[in-house]
Amino acid sequence: MIPLAEAQERVLAGCGILGEVTVAVGDAQGLVTTETVVAPELVPPFDNTAMDGFAVRSADVADAPVTLAVAGTIAAGVPPDITVGAGQAARIMTGAVIPPGADAVVMVELTETRADGAEVTVAQSVPVGNHIRRAGEDLTVGQTVFGPGEVLTPGHLGVLTSLGMYQVKVRPKARVGVMSTGDELVEGPQPLERGQIRDSNRHTLLALLSEAGCDPVDLGSLADNEDEIAAGLRAGVEKCDALLTSGGVSMGDYDYVKKVLNEIGDMAWMQVAIKPAKPLAFGLLEGIPVFGLPGNPVSSMVSFELFARPGLRKMMGHPPGTWHRQPVMGRVAERLGRRPDGKTHFARVRVEYADGEFLARSAGGQGSHQLSAMAAADALAVLPDGDGLDEGDPVSLLILR
Ligand code: AMP
Ligand code: MG
Repeated sequence: MIPLAEAQERVLAGCGILGEVTVAVGDAQGLVTTETVVAPELVPPFDNTAMDGFAVRSADVADAPVTLAVAGTIAAGVPPDITVGAGQAARIMTGAVIPPGADAVVMVELTETRADGAEVTVAQSVPVGNHIRRAGEDLTVGQTVFGPGEVLTPGHLGVLTSLGMYQVKVRPKARVGVMSTGDELVEGPQPLERGQIRDSNRHTLLALLSEAGCDPVDLGSLADNEDEIAAGLRAGVEKCDALLTSGGVSMGDYDYVKKVLNEIGDMAWMQVAIKPAKPLAFGLLEGIPVFGLPGNPVSSMVSFELFARPGLRKMMGHPPGTWHRQPVMGRVAERLGRRPDGKTHFARVRVEYADGEFLARSAGGQGSHQLSAMAAADALAVLPDGDGLDEGDPVSLLILR
């Protein structure tokens, strides 16, 4: 068995970073920038009011209450055709351009307008610049907005469009093919024949890929047949940036994925010192990373978490410190038992936040075939080799959701 960290390093070493593409802002959420974005214009583009109210000369209202003549109204989106002279004010709406002559805004709540609208009484004095948002106060021309390696959030997309930028250079989503293998697998609601099970891994893995920001490609379910598996893998690498296979990588007589990949690819077979997900095949086929994940449903998900997701994040340009989930410390709410076996265990736990800390308790049956507990889990609790953790013990948690 090899330590988890060593297996993870091998995987990461085989995952190359994808080439740069230009995408529309609408398709860019979650992708990682490859360029330095520099502001080509000011945001806001002009001095404008932060409040509905009256644009005034600050000096005119120094001795408030004071009554001013209303010179007109300025709406947002319309350039002002008024100059505010001495003793005058202009009604102004949030976001509208500050008119020439005015140097402050009094919010409407501090004013009273005469019934015919011709005069306004201002109740309080206001300093120069009051409620005025200056041009360029958010971004100035030539300012670096963000650099390469930035994971684009909705806020970033808003910033780009606020600058009139509708395209951005990024690493693309990885197109990742998923194929399941096993003569026992069936798809569909028909009654199972004895010995058959339903293919769940392919659907789980496709969804995990979407969640990880990849572009999943369903490559179907293949029989335990060398030719079929070889053809499926070759077709997969033609159209994908990476492949995930499920099943066929253990020690069984019909574990052909391992055999075929050995023949046609450049693979490493690892027995990783973890439970679940001990067997892992990883390597390159025509230069494309192939993750041979174990068939047991919980194992395939945990293996995805620990190996495929970090590798794919690297490929998509995510910063190194974010390839793996960052563990958070919590506390064990109920004993999490295990036996010493030289492996690190990843227990499926529910996590609640109470009194300022994360409390973890088992999410159910911990067998690698018991997918329902994985589905119920909020986190994987890291149980170091030994006989488990007791109530109250600190525990490292990989939060899944
Ligand atoms: P294998 O790695 O092929 O030896 O499979 C290990 C276990 O996982 C067996 O019990 C398989 O029936 C089960 N298994 C394999 N593939 C899938 C799948 N796609 N969906 C659900 N269970 C699977
Ligand atoms: Mg199998």
